[in-house]
Amino acid sequence: MSDTYLNLVNSGFTKKLAKQLGLPQPAPLRRYRPGQPLLEGPTLVLGRGADAEAVAGLLSTTWDLEVHRHATPELRYAAVVVVLTEVTQPTDLSEPVLAAAGALKSLARGGRVVTLSRTATADDAPAVAAARQGVDGLLRSLAKELRGGSTGNGIVLDAAVGVDAPSVVGALRFFLSTRSAFVDGQLLTVSSAAGTLPTSWERPLEGRVAVVTGAARGIGESIADTLARDGATVVAVDMPSAGEHLTTVANRVRGTALQLDVTAEDAGERILEHALARHGRIDIVVHNAGITRDKLLANMTPEKWDPVLAVNIAAQLRINEALLTSGDFADEPRIVSLASTSGIAGNRGQTNYAASKGGVIGMVRATAPLLEAFGGTANAVAPGFIETDMTARIPAVTRQVARRLNSLQQGGQPVDVAETVAFLASPAAGGVVGRVLRVCGQNMVGQ
Ligand code: NAD
Repeated sequence: MSDTYLNLVNSGFTKKLAKQLGLPQPAPLRRYRPGQPLLEGPTLVLGRGADAEAVAGLLSTTWDLEVHRHATPELRYAAVVVVLTEVTQPTDLSEPVLAAAGALKSLARGGRVVTLSRTATADDAPAVAAARQGVDGLLRSLAKELRGGSTGNGIVLDAAVGVDAPSVVGALRFFLSTRSAFVDGQLLTVSSAAGTLPTSWERPLEGRVAVVTGAARGIGESIADTLARDGATVVAVDMPSAGEHLTTVANRVRGTALQLDVTAEDAGERILEHALARHGRIDIVVHNAGITRDKLLANMTPEKWDPVLAVNIAAQLRINEALLTSGDFADEPRIVSLASTSGIAGNRGQTNYAASKGGVIGMVRATAPLLEAFGGTANAVAPGFIETDMTARIPAVTRQVARRLNSLQQGGQPVDVAETVAFLASPAAGGVVGRVLRVCGQNMVGQ
């Protein structure tokens, strides 16, 4: 789907006019292409202590980036990383944050700001908890101030998780890269040192077999493309009625197609049977198939309520049950489910959809511990407004407004959701468990 307004405000006369009128000026976002350098420009790493040194070392030595430890006013930074894991009181934030402020004035277009901090818990001394929780508010506000397609995201480390844990390293790379183009204002918690770093950051899913439901079009199609690009063998699942589209996707990604209604009683068994028979294993399941049947609750009917719950949540639960009891889903498996910002903040006319998507969030939280013994994870991705057939059905004016209601002032593309799914499905993300990562351009709804 194209966003005509975004094109207009980035060219010629209409660009000037939009500026004069103070209209939203969304910037075109740079997206990932294999072979692209991680960052095109210097990176500023701020913060004191061993963690900040370790992060600077990772970026300069392992990733070969040009790293500065002090802001140089005339430099245009591609990224600013603020390491705040060792703060013990709110006043500790002043020095690194104000140092970052200077560098933000000349942040490159599409720049990245990433904070690293620790989870604030009730066991912390009050001043420690205040400093740690303060980072959340700081990051979310900072992300709202960035322009030019730049984003701000945070990694939050649970107790005993080091800055060198695979998921911290993986999340840092994801947030710095163009793979996270539409992820903004998010704080991702890493709970453990589980996970393994890939031998190739370009093909982290090499040797893995991934099942993607609803893969014939939209976000699911893009997930199939992206997982295959990252090295996975893909089983593309969709309704029998999706027919040719499904075959086209499966052929393009050199995977296989499975025509299946995910609400079938034996859907889980059929997925397992297909993956094992055709590819010999099953490592990743992406529950993407989803539907909407919008109606105000006052006018809701079973015909509109039941199918939404059946496809969006009951099918996922049933398929997971089959996977978990099979014994064949046990080598660092990954479940990634599509939730929605509607399931977090609610949306008028979507009680059925929001119940199902809120359900997904509860489900991954409770499923993750069941997979931990195998080094497995379950997480959810919550898209905001993404340009697909689903959102093309929204009335034109509402659609225009919905697109602008986030810090990046535009809708995301299916690939933005797909990149996030690929990150959570990767071996490096083993320490991210039962979480929800929003892909919404920092849509101003919910928590
Ligand atoms: P879409 O309608 O474009 O595609 C959904 C696909 O799922 C279709 O190919 C459809 O045939 C398939 N599907 C539906 N029911 C099925 C079933 N019973 N069995 C097998 N396949 C089935 O939707 P989309 O916009 O690409 O959304 C994909 C996912 O992302 C959904 O879970 C949706 O709720 C979620 N999401 C989308 C947005 C958005 O803005 N587009 C926002 C939040 C969440």
